Amino acid sequence: MSEPAPVWKVDRASGVRLTLADGRELIDGMSSWWSAVHGYNHPVLNQAAASQLEQMSHVMFGGLTHEPAIELARRLVELTPAGLDKVFLADSGSVSVEVAMKMAIQYQQARGKPEKHRFAALERGYHGDTTGAMSVCDPNRGMHHVFAGVLSSNIFVPAPADNWRGEPACPETLGADLDNLERSLQQHSGQLAALILEPVVQGAGGMRFYHPEYLKGARALCDQYDVLLIADEIATGFGRTGELFACNHADISPDILCLGKALTGGYMTLAATLTTPQVAENISNGEAGCFMHGPTFMGNPLACRVACASIDLLLATHWQTEVQRIGSGLQQGLGSLQALDGVADVRVLGAIGVVQLDHAANTRRLQPLLVEQGVWVRPFADLVYVMPPFVMNDQDLHCLCQGIQAAVREYLAAC
Ligand code: PMP
Repeated sequence: MSEPAPVWKVDRASGVRLTLADGRELIDGMSSWWSAVHGYNHPVLNQAAASQLEQMSHVMFGGLTHEPAIELARRLVELTPAGLDKVFLADSGSVSVEVAMKMAIQYQQARGKPEKHRFAALERGYHGDTTGAMSVCDPNRGMHHVFAGVLSSNIFVPAPADNWRGEPACPETLGADLDNLERSLQQHSGQLAALILEPVVQGAGGMRFYHPEYLKGARALCDQYDVLLIADEIATGFGRTGELFACNHADISPDILCLGKALTGGYMTLAATLTTPQVAENISNGEAGCFMHGPTFMGNPLACRVACASIDLLLATHWQTEVQRIGSGLQQGLGSLQALDGVADVRVLGAIGVVQLDHAANTRRLQPLLVEQGVWVRPFADLVYVMPPFVMNDQDLHCLCQGIQAAVREYLAAC
């Protein structure tokens, strides 16, 4: 409030373009923070929302149920890694993480292990902004250290190496990373309800890509030390990394899975937490008799209907080919920045492109340069990163990369 950063007013959005109030058009590289995978103002999603509005926009989800929620749960059970047969619909990504954490705690209580109520999490991890979610975010980076003294104290494991570029795992690095994890799980397993992590891509904690073999190892260690595994696929879910879910890169199933963001194609807020019959049945047979969470807008029919339409749309397209195409375009379009003084790394995974500077960017200076180039990209810390809508054509992708190239070069030249 004291020194407001610039903001740009958006009048409308369609396809991969945002139209500003002054008439300028920007090519959107952000998919509104990973969510708008089909682009904006999509006729199929509009139609789903409009027809659901005529039926009901909302009805409480306690003692009542409805077709959009049933249909969505069916689709999610079918699509997600094996064994996740129980679905809880939540309001947002952060809330789905709260739900996952509460499920893990209630599960351990129901098994007669109430002392297992803490969480292990990875350094550089990010899981949301509500209080429980903050308590499993990297404690030293980002904004959450502000609340450090107030959050529950959890166990943090050194982050695995940011070294996955598609090649086999380096045995020494993988071994050292998994040793770190094992040490923490071994030492604290008596207190741990679950390990929570973002599979393969650590997003807001640095856009780091770690090896799927680490995820596989983490799954095995959780089983060995009787700790549940929570996979936060809020950012990575629905194709972004080149697999429908990032867990699929390692061919593993977590005990609890969080989904959000692209679930409704970016139309409105909705998230889901899935779990196994084993976790769900333990909770239901425990003292509480049910899972203790029941928000007002749980299972909102409008959001569920659009989510069903968005999933159907995704599956009806060759999304994997499109994601690969975008990944190649990002590599081609951004790769040459690697040679620039001031650029530490350029990396691409699925339809995610990252240009990492060797210093935290002055976003007040860099952001307007990007807008001048006609692209919407929102840098943070040392990262200029994009995750374009899957429907972006090659020409727009080229323009997006050219815009980033020009803005980053101009920014660095003046540093
Ligand atoms: N987990 C991850 C991995 C995320 O990227 C985010 C959103 N940035 C969240 C949780 C929180 O989701 P939401 O912003 O919808 O609360």
